[in-house]
Amino acid sequence: MTYLMSTYAAPSVTFVRGRGSYLWDEQGRRYLDFLSGLAVTSLGHAHPAVAEALCRAANTLLHTSNLFGTVPGPEVAATLDRLIGGDGKVFFANSGAEANECAIKLARKWAGHGRYVVLSAYGSFHGRTLATLHATGQPAKHEAFQPLPDGFRHVAWQDIEGLEKAVTPEVAAILLEPVQGEGGVWPAGPEYFQAVRRLCDERDLLFMVDEVQTGLGRTGRWWGFQHYGIRPDVVTVAKALGNGVPIGACWARSEVASAFVPGDHATTFGGQPLAASAAQATLAVMEAVDVPDLARKRGQYLRDKLSALPSVRAVRGLGLLLGVEVTGTEAKAVVAKCMEQGLVVNAVTDSALRLAPSLLVSEAEIDEAVDILGRVLEGASA
Ligand SMILES: *Cc1c(COP(=O)(O)O)cnc(C)c1O
Repeated sequence: MTYLMSTYAAPSVTFVRGRGSYLWDEQGRRYLDFLSGLAVTSLGHAHPAVAEALCRAANTLLHTSNLFGTVPGPEVAATLDRLIGGDGKVFFANSGAEANECAIKLARKWAGHGRYVVLSAYGSFHGRTLATLHATGQPAKHEAFQPLPDGFRHVAWQDIEGLEKAVTPEVAAILLEPVQGEGGVWPAGPEYFQAVRRLCDERDLLFMVDEVQTGLGRTGRWWGFQHYGIRPDVVTVAKALGNGVPIGACWARSEVASAFVPGDHATTFGGQPLAASAAQATLAVMEAVDVPDLARKRGQYLRDKLSALPSVRAVRGLGLLLGVEVTGTEAKAVVAKCMEQGLVVNAVTDSALRLAPSLLVSEAEIDEAVDILGRVLEGASA
């Protein structure tokens, strides 16, 4: 009997403790975590700097609302602005979906009446609120919840001609992930992103990049868009920002951000001292250890080892966000077997696993994870 709504399948394991790349269940069994709470705990579990910051905030001030000034939210905004490239402003939210809601509302306010359509790609994922669900290019997920808010249209992923054709006078913005994460770990590529940038410039549209999963070093650069040599107008961030504490952010170029005036958008919790303290500590550690560099190096190491496994058909992705195509067995079955062997991963498609370990993962931990996966795949094909 559970009092939780059945929005998820019954869990096979209950975790009670974590440290670095490891988790422990109720029975005291240890697991190597190569999922990181869905690309959230980029500094590993129970990072001491984040724990310290949370304790300090809990003992000082947790919340006062956004009617008043607080610390350290404005400092976190300044750091995000610097990392994204400067000359922008930030709105804090509590999740990825909320960060994207902010981006969608900002696009409508910026574009003005009559221009409200956001174009996004099939296979994308942008959240589960009604608007972000509609932005999510997965029609099967829409059906039960029709009618969804108006103003969303989907185009084929990486099809620049299809995108050009979809730009009608009602279109205000294009929203894309640098790597489709939930959709199966598919990088967009520089040609596509550069063509989208040109299209947005020509047609006066906002290029909004959803960095909720890819942001903050995971791909081997601070932001996924940096692999493609473009500057977006709007960037949304969430997952790794608080290393497990819920916090999201929507960054926009100052000229775009100025479309919002007091009263246009708001949040009770967004940017509060507790969550902002976690983000501040997380960003400080991320900069100190240079997480993009770690993700690039460890990502290459992991990729090489995975590619050498006989039942692995292909490895794709960037940095430490990898999709692994397996042969001979369903990805879901591999995930279940890995769990039994003490390795946490998940399936993004019927045939692909997603790997997103901590960005502080060691080579020894990678060796251990690839050993487990190798044994599981060998057992499945035998
Ligand atoms: C996870 C995710 C979201 C949604 O974030 P929530 O915090 O679950 O609302 C949005 N966009 C992308 C790319 C994501 O990976």
